[in-house]
Amino acid sequence: MNPILLPILLALHLAPPSDDRVVDCRFDRDSAIGRATPKALAATLEAPVVGYVGFDGKRHMGQIVCERGVCKELVEWFSRMESVGFPFRSVCPVSMYGMSDSASMAADNTYCFAQRGIWGSREISWHAQGRALDVNPQENPALKRGRTIPANGRWLPGTPGTLSDTSIAVKSLRAIGWKWGAHWRRVQDRHHFQKVR
Ligand SMILES: [Zn+2]
Repeated sequence: MNPILLPILLALHLAPPSDDRVVDCRFDRDSAIGRATPKALAATLEAPVVGYVGFDGKRHMGQIVCERGVCKELVEWFSRMESVGFPFRSVCPVSMYGMSDSASMAADNTYCFAQRGIWGSREISWHAQGRALDVNPQENPALKRGRTIPANGRWLPGTPGTLSDTSIAVKSLRAIGWKWGAHWRRVQDRHHFQKVR
């Protein structure tokens, strides 16, 4: 277990899980969603536990904060990704990063809910409703007018944790109605999926 994590678990009065998974995060629901999140919005969100394979090849456990209506299908999708061996760096709430999606991205974290807008726009992102998913952002960086986001990202299709049109990760999310941002005109957002209502 990550040595930083044990004191956090103890402080939250959570026992480490009994199976052999590496625990990347495990918060109570309110801490996962973020205590500053408006109550009406928080009431629409859940923070289910997800299992996945890490880049170290071990079985990991994390949490995804998402809108209640999409949680079940996302948990099932992570389970399917585990069965096909598609790895994730970590899957943890942005509350673990002080609610900062850029800090989460710098850590190559996969997440769903964050209270944020769309880059360079006044529009609210689907992340703010828990209906957008960013997957391994460093392996799947966005391209915006020649700029790579995150700056240390490298897209090498065919390598572990990397998305492409032919990857099962993309095909299986598209099959249940999620849109992939890789081919958008303004920004080729390769780590981003969203399920528009
Ligand atoms: Zn996104």
